Amino acid sequence: MRDAHYDVTVIGAGPAGIAAAIGAREAGAGRVLLVDRDHRLGGILNQCVHAGFGAVCFDAELTGPEYAERWVSRLLSSDVETALHTSVVDARRGGRLTLSSAERGVRGIETGAVVLAMGCRERTRGGAVIPGSRPAGIFSAGTAQRLINVDGLMVGREVVVVGSGDVGLIMARRCVLEGARVHAVIERLPWPGGCSRNVAQCLDDFGIPLHLGHTVTSISGLYRVDGVSFGPVHGGGEKRIDCDTVLFSIGLVPEIELARLLEVPLDPVTGGPFIDSGGQTLQAGVFACGNLVQPYDLVDLVSRDAERVGAGAAAFARDPGAARGRIPLQPGRGIRSLTPQFLDAGGAAGASLCCRVDRRYRRARFVLRDGDRIATAVEREYVVPAEMVTLGIDELLRGAHRPGRFTLEVEGEEMESAPAAGASDGAVRCIVCPASCLLRVDGSAGALKVRGARCSKGIAYAEQEYRDPRRLFTSTAVLLGGDTPRVPVRSLRPIARGDWKKAMEVVATLRVRAPVSCGQVLVDGFVEPGNTLVAAQSAARFPS
Ligand SMILES: Cc1cc2nc3c(=O)[nH]c(=O)nc-3n(C[C@H](O)[C@H](O)[C@H](O)COP(=O)(O)OP(=O)(O)OC[C@H]3O[C@@H](n4cnc5c(N)ncnc54)[C@H](O)[C@@H]3O)c2cc1C
Ligand code: SF4
Repeated sequence: MRDAHYDVTVIGAGPAGIAAAIGAREAGAGRVLLVDRDHRLGGILNQCVHAGFGAVCFDAELTGPEYAERWVSRLLSSDVETALHTSVVDARRGGRLTLSSAERGVRGIETGAVVLAMGCRERTRGGAVIPGSRPAGIFSAGTAQRLINVDGLMVGREVVVVGSGDVGLIMARRCVLEGARVHAVIERLPWPGGCSRNVAQCLDDFGIPLHLGHTVTSISGLYRVDGVSFGPVHGGGEKRIDCDTVLFSIGLVPEIELARLLEVPLDPVTGGPFIDSGGQTLQAGVFACGNLVQPYDLVDLVSRDAERVGAGAAAFARDPGAARGRIPLQPGRGIRSLTPQFLDAGGAAGASLCCRVDRRYRRARFVLRDGDRIATAVEREYVVPAEMVTLGIDELLRGAHRPGRFTLEVEGEEMESAPAAGASDGAVRCIVCPASCLLRVDGSAGALKVRGARCSKGIAYAEQEYRDPRRLFTSTAVLLGGDTPRVPVRSLRPIARGDWKKAMEVVATLRVRAPVSCGQVLVDGFVEPGNTLVAAQSAARFPS
């Protein structure tokens, strides 16, 4: 039985879903429902206890849970209805959804528009077709992240990471912080799969070797993994590493089961739905945003785009008949993936085009072709496949004629190898923002001279890195009386880079009693006078 009608229903309460629900409500949708199968809001951010979120939305360096809390507090004051611990198990065209939860059983609802924000999941070892037996000790990096950061369960002691995507890089560092030895990260491609700033702060900081252009040839072990053999992709020079744990970080695939049920056409390149610049799929009234569309590097961009998509869904619910034309936008030379795949002929106010290039280019020039004619060109100093490029659609369309179809291409000097990461030979990889500029610091003439920075933040970072390298410290501590066994924690200010062992010793003995609120001071004088360790997520007492 259908027991409720909503104007907009958003499926998935990660950062995309939260922002879409807020966007829909603020754009005037009457009843907005936000559904998630998890028992809490925030999606993947709840397990991302590292820092690196919020630079765009809040001009701050936040951890994943802190970023989520800021958006959740906005959501809670917005009159959006939430259904947590509830899965959407069926979805049909015309706005008919079936929800299932332990508390309310199975129920049907109707909705004027639906926003799909179910994120993505990791490719498994099967996807990499690696031979060998199937012993215990093999995890996807995201599963290991959840086990360590949310459940407080360490996955192993002698670790090898396969694939250098961001999740793998972050987990390599996390395992070291938790006392494991990470022997290597093995990457098939000649360049890292994750952002350069993660290579710098997760591998270089901890001396973890990255083997580019290498692949795993077999995993051995009877009951538990006991070793990994690997060698260059072109053959020869095979080596073996003894280990008890292998983490796979070999890519993300969109959660598209519900999109299939809704008969939403999917892009074979991204794996997600085709969308227009308003986030509408090719199925009227079905919208999509966030990692479901294509995996984003920066959560801030997820939130920004999703808020706009939610507003579009509200407009559709109000006036489903107001159909507009769509202009196809297709990837051309050098572009591996591109979203949106269509421009809304009525305008794309504020929308961005997100793309990934197929190789590394210096002095890249993105060219929008309008038939045979160049409509616009936008330049970037360098672009790499691991980092999503976002281009303002309004800026790109300036001077375009609005023909039958646009093509985006990239041209530039191809870079053979990855620019050196980390500090070596006076070189410092700036980790302040994803541009990851390579800075050269020269202190030979007394005053420091920094070259290669695109902004003053980079100069300040290079000077600090040269004199006294510091990192924000993040981890989790034991939580007593809460609904999860661990609570994320962080140093209020960065600590000296070499002090992480001291910091982990303090955290290992810490017992935090629920309730605790985000930002609450847990340890005064943490590692050094004047610094503090604070909770990076609120936790209620359980049972309340
Ligand atoms: C390990 C890792 C590290 C990252 N590090 C950074 C970083 O340092 N800085 C940064 O800015 N970004 C980072 N990102 C990227 C950023 O976190 C993601 O782009 C963003 O979280 C994606 O949000 P989302 O809402 O699309 O997906 P998710 O956060 O995955 O949310 C999807 C939600 O949908 C729910 N769901 C799925 N199916 C159903 C269903 N059928 N019914 C009900 N609910 C359902 C899931 O439970 C989940 O809560 C990182 C991502 C990962 C994975
Ligand atoms: S120098 Fe500026 S633009 Fe370049 S990575 Fe650093 S903060 Fe970003």
